Amino acid sequence: MAISMDTPLTRVLGPKTAKVMAEQLALHTVRDLLRHYPRRYAQRGEMTRLDGLEVGDRVTVLAQVKNVSTRRMQQRRGTLTEVTVGDGAGSMRLVFFNNRHAHLDVGEWGLFAGTVGLWRGEKQFTHPDCHIITGGDDDWARALVPLYPASKDVSSWVIQKSVKLLLDDPRSLEQMLDDPLPAPVRERHGLVDLPTALRYKHRPESQEQVDEADERLKWDEALVLQATLAARRRAAALEPGIARPRSSGGLLDAVDAALPFSLTDGQREVGEELAAELAREQPMNRLLQGEVGSGKTVVALRAMAQVVDAGGQAALLAPTEVLAAQHARSLAGILGPLGRAGELDGDPAGTRVVLLTGSQKAAVRREARAAVADGSAGIVVGTHALLQEGVEFADLGLVVVDEQHRFGVEQRDALRAKGNRPPHVLVMTATPIPRTVAMTVYGDLETSTLRQLPAGRGGVSSSVVPAGEKPAWLDRAWARVREEVAAGRQAYVVCPRIGDLEDGSSKADEGPDGEDGAPPEEKGAGSDRRPPLAVLDVAEALRAGPLSALRVEVLHGRMPPEEKEARMRAFAAAEVDVLVATTVVEVGVDVPNATVMVVMDADRFGVSQLHQLRGRVARGRHPGLCLLVSEVSSSSATGQRLASVAATTDGFQLARLDLETRREGDVLGAAQSGRRSGVRLLSLLDDEQLIAEARVEATALVEHGRGLADHPELAAAVAAMSLDERADYLEKA
Ligand code: ADP
Ligand code: MG
Repeated sequence: MAISMDTPLTRVLGPKTAKVMAEQLALHTVRDLLRHYPRRYAQRGEMTRLDGLEVGDRVTVLAQVKNVSTRRMQQRRGTLTEVTVGDGAGSMRLVFFNNRHAHLDVGEWGLFAGTVGLWRGEKQFTHPDCHIITGGDDDWARALVPLYPASKDVSSWVIQKSVKLLLDDPRSLEQMLDDPLPAPVRERHGLVDLPTALRYKHRPESQEQVDEADERLKWDEALVLQATLAARRRAAALEPGIARPRSSGGLLDAVDAALPFSLTDGQREVGEELAAELAREQPMNRLLQGEVGSGKTVVALRAMAQVVDAGGQAALLAPTEVLAAQHARSLAGILGPLGRAGELDGDPAGTRVVLLTGSQKAAVRREARAAVADGSAGIVVGTHALLQEGVEFADLGLVVVDEQHRFGVEQRDALRAKGNRPPHVLVMTATPIPRTVAMTVYGDLETSTLRQLPAGRGGVSSSVVPAGEKPAWLDRAWARVREEVAAGRQAYVVCPRIGDLEDGSSKADEGPDGEDGAPPEEKGAGSDRRPPLAVLDVAEALRAGPLSALRVEVLHGRMPPEEKEARMRAFAAAEVDVLVATTVVEVGVDVPNATVMVVMDADRFGVSQLHQLRGRVARGRHPGLCLLVSEVSSSSATGQRLASVAATTDGFQLARLDLETRREGDVLGAAQSGRRSGVRLLSLLDDEQLIAEARVEATALVEHGRGLADHPELAAAVAAMSLDERADYLEKA
């Protein structure tokens, strides 16, 4: 029987082991197991981990048996065996009832796995798994003992033994493994081959071997990822779209004439870049990143107008209903009669702007869909509802995705697929993103950046309000809100939760499209904390207390869409002084007269969320004020994170801080788009250089000769990854 990377583990391991590995660790194939890397390595003689254990940790420790004593229990029948083990730095107790333990002798070394418990102030394992390291067992005589991520019934050494079985297989790794890294790439970058890397990773003789393995295995991840993206770019470039060249006397000129301001240099430059690309047959695939408030919407609108002038349709995909409605409203406002073709007061030379969202009434939606299908709606604004089946475009020429961090690659593709030929695509992201993220998550897009903010902005200053340590500061915060309102301005108060009149247990704020109030990116400190503050409660308290003289209203994702829309309109029209809201206002909402943003329980929000929220009050000529209210201690890590957010408005710096505080997997993987990225070792923070080099290599491989066809092993790895992505997507759909 030949084994390959795809051989099921059931064919190489015992049935019981294979079953629990599949169930508990999702390891199904030889590849899964070989790519299940040790978390760290225990070093004999210097394993000093015992003093660093925390109660509740599930761990494997390497230690020596110091003492064994068995006695009858007094309260109960049976015996109790206490074993003390030590590792030089600390010691702990192992407890076994009724001799249910491997025979342990003083002086023996062993691996012990269990959950750290506490008994009479001392740490202990109850019935740990024990593996005594015998003298003849060469596995354990090694300098470095690999410790694997384990589960309840699959201990680290079961994994180690299973891996050893594969590594020692006489059929040899060399035959079984197809090395995805072409030899010239390995040579150029001084990388070991795959069998060597796997042996070094799983059974290293020195730290240097581990390092060599890591470097090489990171390259695998980076190259496969970059080759996937390069292949996407190439495929997109080869499939012709439709040229939408600029023409005069149409919508675009009307938009330019209607703008109440002149474009910034950056807007003009990016605008020209887009205009030129839209005029080509090769579809544009571009990422527009720009600081919050840098004026991306206008850039997009001008591109959309150009496409409509050229006879195509443009779709704008927004992450929330509030934002979609706002975009539709402001586009219609700028276009005036040109946006109402077909209506009584409309200009027949113009087009129609339609809104399409999930919570619209069926009749409204039917009508909108019809206008999209017959082409009378040149500009279509919507939420995820746009992606649904049954939404057919007459001639989709441009897709604009606003605030991309809420959408995944697949959703972009789903919309792209609605064109008769591939449409041009413009993705806009408000959070400036680190270069590594640009090269990975958005690696199939070209990038433009708006660095400059429109002139005449008042700027925004931020402070942390430590409500726990200095309650008087909170009073002062509400006084500031009163002062701003007295000066004619408006304020937002944002809370992490809606609150629930019925059962008091609502947590995340999820609208009909699952759109608003993404839960905070980080978990709170623990479940012992009080529940996060809620919009409904805070609004009530403000009305009854410090803001009783002001017009205070609420906005959240559970309100019916018409009400949300009406509330937002009233706020925009300055009929409401203070809007108490969830993160529905996080992205894109644009009310330039609002100057104060009070974020309650600010520690419950992620860095980029806070930066987004703050962006809501830096939009006009009046100076903005952002107050981050939190009860966490200002010296805690979370408190310092808040202080950093308050200290800088540099989006690029904050994006990096954000990356540091989030699990990287979230950036590359599931949370971003619901796809598995196959990234285990690669770090977006530390491996910028490597990723950039891999990008160069991948682009060259894909573009030279017959492309990936010349590199079947790499092509197979790329295909495997795309399949994974697709499978995940289908599961979700
Ligand atoms: P973002 O890039 O965050 O999406 P918006 O496109 O919402 O920013 O623009 C923020 C605000 O700035 C809006 O009120 C918009 O009308 C205004 N704006 C855009 N461009 C300019 C400009 N060149 N001069 C002045 N104000 C502008
Ligand atoms: Mg925006």
